[in-house]
Amino acid sequence: FFGQHILSPFYPVLYSFTVYMACCIPYLALDALSPVIPALKRCRVQPRGRRPTLGMVLHCLAHTVYSHLVFIFPVTVAYWYWRPVSLPRAAPQLHRLILDVGACLLLFDFQYFIWHVLHHKIKWLYKTFHKMHHKYTSTFALTTQYSSAWEMLSLGLFAGASPLLLGCHPMTEMAFFIFNIYLSVEDHSGYELPWSTHRLIPFGLCGGPAHHDLHHQKFVSNYAPYFTHWDKLFNTHAQNSSKGKSKD
Ligand SMILES: [Zn+2]
Ligand SMILES: [Zn+2]
Repeated sequence: FFGQHILSPFYPVLYSFTVYMACCIPYLALDALSPVIPALKRCRVQPRGRRPTLGMVLHCLAHTVYSHLVFIFPVTVAYWYWRPVSLPRAAPQLHRLILDVGACLLLFDFQYFIWHVLHHKIKWLYKTFHKMHHKYTSTFALTTQYSSAWEMLSLGLFAGASPLLLGCHPMTEMAFFIFNIYLSVEDHSGYELPWSTHRLIPFGLCGGPAHHDLHHQKFVSNYAPYFTHWDKLFNTHAQNSSKGKSKD
């Protein structure tokens, strides 16, 4: 039953949209509740930052629906024709799945880091393709996919290529998509929760929401989406100013 749905050309776009909304809705609920729950307010990356208005939420939501219908749907259908899904009988082993998802995230992080640096350093690329994603300096969950068609398609290509290059099992690929969308939404959510990635992963290997939030505030640091090693290596790593002065 599940298998038949997975083989449909409509499945990838519905999967992408459903996972994205499922990741965004809890954070949007926090945005609605944070004015009345002081503990939630303290979790905000920018405690005095602007909370999203209903207009902003609807504007970003409309853009997501538009992108999924106009860009993601045709591309995923073309991909489906080119490489039809074939599910192996056996599921991957759990430790294999976890290792492969981690490897995919590292590879995606590296690809996006390069794309992102280029789209900031080359003014034409910034203005034409990436400026749209920087409309909001105080981000909220739905600003994650508020970006140009080229940016969406590039990210889609990196996300699709990573498990393919690493020869992952289709189930691993689906798990990676969920983690990838969850992490990108967490980056833009505006909240540092006790289970935020940078608190679960030791040694500051992951940046967490404050890391990417600073990128949206200042534009000159923290180009890697999830991990911190590329920014540290290229000296573009900066800490959140709310936890001591920023060094950039
Ligand atoms: Zn940027
Ligand atoms: Zn962003």
